Amino acid sequence: MVVVGAGVAGLACAWALQDAGVPVRVLERAATPGGRLGGDLLDGRPADLGAAYFTVSDPGFAAVVARWRDEGLARPWTGPAFKVYGPRPPAAEKGSSAAGTGAPAAGTGEPERWAAAGGLASLAADLAAGVNVTCGAAVKELTVLDGTVVLAMPAPQAAALLPAAAPLAEAQDWQPSLAVALRYRRRCWKPLTGAFVNDHPVLTTVCDDGSRRGDGAPVLVAHTTPAFAMESAAGDVEAAVRELLDLPEAAVAVATRRWPAARPTRPSGSEFAQVEGVYLAGDGFGRPRVEAAWLSGRAVAAAIVGNQNPKTPRTASRAR
Ligand SMILES: Cc1cc2nc3c(=O)[nH]c(=O)nc-3n(C[C@H](O)[C@H](O)[C@H](O)COP(=O)(O)OP(=O)(O)OC[C@H]3O[C@@H](n4cnc5c(N)ncnc54)[C@H](O)[C@@H]3O)c2cc1C
Repeated sequence: MVVVGAGVAGLACAWALQDAGVPVRVLERAATPGGRLGGDLLDGRPADLGAAYFTVSDPGFAAVVARWRDEGLARPWTGPAFKVYGPRPPAAEKGSSAAGTGAPAAGTGEPERWAAAGGLASLAADLAAGVNVTCGAAVKELTVLDGTVVLAMPAPQAAALLPAAAPLAEAQDWQPSLAVALRYRRRCWKPLTGAFVNDHPVLTTVCDDGSRRGDGAPVLVAHTTPAFAMESAAGDVEAAVRELLDLPEAAVAVATRRWPAARPTRPSGSEFAQVEGVYLAGDGFGRPRVEAAWLSGRAVAAAIVGNQNPKTPRTASRAR
């Protein structure tokens, strides 16, 4: 059994298969696991450049997150409600922003947002530690893989290995994003957790990385619109953030990450797909969220082992 991709979906799938007694190995092309939970070091400090946070509503995922919290890996990121710049979307569309759904934070009308002191990639590293993952192992063709194969990745990346998945990639309509981490000399903005930026030519979200990581570092992370992601330069993003938050000074250090397939605008309704005998998993199925990726990976594993209840961990030993 081979899972290609060590993002949340692939790691969740591998854990569920392993729990069911199915030998599995995970092949990941990047040097580290995590996929779009990825970050980068900015002056030696990890900054989240992929998912800004995650929300939790599924009981099985909640058990994993509770373990992370108990072990000091994940932290609820509460504080001032996210600001909204620009027109607010109608209530029915709220879930289409990065806000997500999930259990509400105490005393707010917003879902509890979760972050990680060591960056979200540290959670993927935790998951990867208990399964057979090989990083730096880019799969170039499926014919070299034995047995059942799971492609746990955005559909455009799956289609590069499995051309029959191309219509699925097109139907899900994946959009790019550019993430820019900006370090300042000091915290020179009004109290902020994060902000949704609507109808802006450059920005979609700006998050206070020091707030979400809990160390108070003077770092902001901005995500751009799909259109801007393809043509942009970090300097333009820095200028847009400075103007939006009315900052008195410029950033002194910058890290960027371009995501060619950041999220699907039309995710499939099913939890996974099977194309020419190959399973496809990831956040292209459900909603473009960390939790959806986790659920998709579990659902594929359940389909493979014939388990009809993928949301319940099969063993009570350790939630993962
Ligand atoms: C900028 C941005 C902001 C986001 N904000 C949020 C948010 O606030 N809240 C939220 O819940 N979600 C957010 N998301 C979405 C979240 O990051 C994803 O839902 C989740 O991480 C997807 O996990 P995945 O396992 O499905 O895919 P991925 O994380 O993309 O994992 C796929 C893996 O497959 C690997 N791979 C691909 N091709 C090959 C190959 N040929 N060989 C070997 N390996 C391969 C990749 O390297 C990657 O590691 C955001 C995403 C982005 C990009």
